[in-house]
Amino acid sequence: TDRLISPEASVQEDRFDRAIRPLSLADYVGQQAVRDQLEIFIGAARNRGEPLDHTLVFGPPGLGKTTLAHIIANELGVALKTTSGPVLERAGDLVALMTNLEPGDVLFIDEIHRLSPVVEEVIYPAMEDYQLDIMIGEGPAARSIKLDLPPFTLVGATTRAGLLTSPLRDRFGIVQRLEFYSVEELSQIVYRSAGILGVSLDKPGAAEIARRSRGTPRIANRLLRRVRDFAEMKADGNITADVADQALNMLNVDGKGFDHMDRRLLLAIMEKFAGGPVGVDSIAAAISEERDTIEDVLEPYLIQQGYITRTPRGRMVTALAYEHFGLQSPDNLPR
Ligand code: ADP
Repeated sequence: TDRLISPEASVQEDRFDRAIRPLSLADYVGQQAVRDQLEIFIGAARNRGEPLDHTLVFGPPGLGKTTLAHIIANELGVALKTTSGPVLERAGDLVALMTNLEPGDVLFIDEIHRLSPVVEEVIYPAMEDYQLDIMIGEGPAARSIKLDLPPFTLVGATTRAGLLTSPLRDRFGIVQRLEFYSVEELSQIVYRSAGILGVSLDKPGAAEIARRSRGTPRIANRLLRRVRDFAEMKADGNITADVADQALNMLNVDGKGFDHMDRRLLLAIMEKFAGGPVGVDSIAAAISEERDTIEDVLEPYLIQQGYITRTPRGRMVTALAYEHFGLQSPDNLPR
């Protein structure tokens, strides 16, 4: 997407990502509870010489699910094989991947909620007993054969745990939820990235970028690069709070880190639906946006920040949203 604050990675970001992605739990900023637990589970598995239990990581895009999968493999001292739900179309795709695993390896499946039902059927016995049950041949000559797999760890990532079928969810021994990052934590991430990239950034500059990054490391790192461009062209190359503020204003990322899509969403609920409650489908139609994008990308941060609430009858904006736009809020709004 061309959205500056999209939490999804763009292709050009891959190279950049490799340079700044933390490789150990110690370098993984924030998510204290997740780190504490994984440190114990990984250490225990390593001591016993067993693979780590299958691990499900969920949370909005850009919060560090893929990074965590890499770290788990690194900390275990094993290789990581990566794929994603939509890529595994046929059972054979998965069989090919799994039969190439070495003992203890980590298989990372991104967007695991998008596995096709046939692939899911193959995954169950693989997760439970390290066995593949595959059908070969067709019609009366068809027969099923069993293949033994080496013990391995499946790490699955998804935006919302509720998107998984329950038989799949039940097969994960470890389930970790990632939360939006605090400004403090994002400042630390941006500061570290600037160091690696050789960008001159002071602490207040880092804090300004962090405040406007929607609680999301991927966005923080992307804004850092755009602010660096601005600093090089319009200032002396040094990123201060003032330079960051000017750059982000120019880029239409407002003081709360909202962009035109957030503003359209909030304004639509206020102006077209009298503040709500309104169903997601109606909002999607009003702003010409996919329902999934609203639920996975736009809404989580707006809800976490208290601009929108979810009610049984649909979404409502809060008084904070009216204040943000300097609008008079109707009475009886949730706060
Ligand atoms: P996801 O898989 O959840 O979409 P990624 O793991 O690709 O997110 O993270 C996006 C980028 O944000 C990574 O390249 C990494 O540099 C950075 N990042 C994510 N989580 C952290 C963290 N806890 N500490 C430091 N950087 C992080």
